[in-house]
Amino acid sequence: MSNRQCDVIIIGGGLHGLSAAMHLGRAGQRVTVLERSWVGRHASGATAAGVRTLNRDRGELDLSLEAIEMWHRLPELVGDDCGFHPNGQICVAETPAALQRLQAHVHALRTDGYTHEELIGSAELRQWLPELSPHCLGASLARRDGAADPHQALRAFRRAAETAGASIVEQCGVTFIEHHGDDWRVQAGGKEWRAPVLVNAAGAWGARVAAMVGDEIPLATKSSMMMVSERLRPFIKPVVSIMGRSLSFKQSDQGTLVIGGGLQGVPDLDRETSTARMGVLAKGARAATDLFPLVRDVRIVRVWSGLEAKTEDMLPVIGTSPNAPGVFHAFGFSGHGFELVPVVGAALTDLVVRGTTTRAIGNLSAQRLMAPAAKENRP
Ligand SMILES: Cc1cc2nc3c(=O)[nH]c(=O)nc-3n(C[C@H](O)[C@H](O)[C@H](O)COP(=O)(O)OP(=O)(O)OC[C@H]3O[C@@H](n4cnc5c(N)ncnc54)[C@H](O)[C@@H]3O)c2cc1C
Repeated sequence: MSNRQCDVIIIGGGLHGLSAAMHLGRAGQRVTVLERSWVGRHASGATAAGVRTLNRDRGELDLSLEAIEMWHRLPELVGDDCGFHPNGQICVAETPAALQRLQAHVHALRTDGYTHEELIGSAELRQWLPELSPHCLGASLARRDGAADPHQALRAFRRAAETAGASIVEQCGVTFIEHHGDDWRVQAGGKEWRAPVLVNAAGAWGARVAAMVGDEIPLATKSSMMMVSERLRPFIKPVVSIMGRSLSFKQSDQGTLVIGGGLQGVPDLDRETSTARMGVLAKGARAATDLFPLVRDVRIVRVWSGLEAKTEDMLPVIGTSPNAPGVFHAFGFSGHGFELVPVVGAALTDLVVRGTTTRAIGNLSAQRLMAPAAKENRP
């Protein structure tokens, strides 16, 4: 049997494609990953790599809580800690109204039995963040959260997928898909590949791949921007955000500040690129200096932006195609899919191998986003 005939073809060599390849390979499936550019070319190589359960939407919270447990035992899963430092994530309140919102949020979580977030007052907040501006009033905290190294994660998941037997083919973009007999025939890189199962992990292009198999799933595009500063002495360990403002702020092992938090550039899906907007980045810099006055004169040395799919409700699409037998989708992570990487591949593997999963993907079906006619298009 040629290596272009296998059990599962995964379209997209980002972290979600690699995680699916690893889990499926370990479950005995012969897997081929087809990647248009190179592994990690898009969101997975551009990510801030925050590992966050803090302020997760309820629609994906249970899945995210399973993922955080997997992050804490990542060396068992992929043979590498992926640079994960569980130094916590903190959401700071600058005003009484913001503090009230955090209090209401944590109270509602507690009422429903969730204990991963807690409130901390001004004194404890300063123990966590000694350089914080005096105007900040309190915060919510998720102690087991943190951040990882995206490139270490890409190397580790790739290695684990290949060790599990997956074949990864780069410079091999999928241009056409048709169903024939029991197989999907996939045109990519001037060749044909065949498998009865397809996993669509095509990131920002997830809706285009879905359309190739008959699923019309509305999707927008994010172009999240990041900036990195020169090196500073170590002064902060957790990842910090602000209630009501766009900011994600952390310090890397090398001492650089890594600043983002949903600041948007200009995406161009056709050209597979995006452009940073300096005026918008300036707002992020302003939020950072408001919180930490000591970084006011720090130089920014590099900025970038990365493409990623965004759904209407900001929740990903994870699950079985409503129209195409043997097709499974995993895209639309809307700017917060890095934390979910270990668990989504496991959920897809449950679906492929057993036809069902106990993992919490019930809110994440493609159908929720599709027009009524498209949902019922099954032949
Ligand atoms: C700047 C930035 C900061 C972020 N920060 C965080 C964070 O702090 N925490 C967090 O949880 N998440 C964060 N995210 C989101 C997170 O990085 C993504 O959700 C995650 O990396 C998505 O992985 P993926 O594998 O789905 O997509 P990608 O890594 O984009 O991979 C998809 C791949 O599919 C390939 N592809 C597309 N079409 C085809 C085709 N037709 N044929 C073959 N291959 C194809 C692409 O080339 C691409 O390599 C951030 C994202 C960005 C951009």
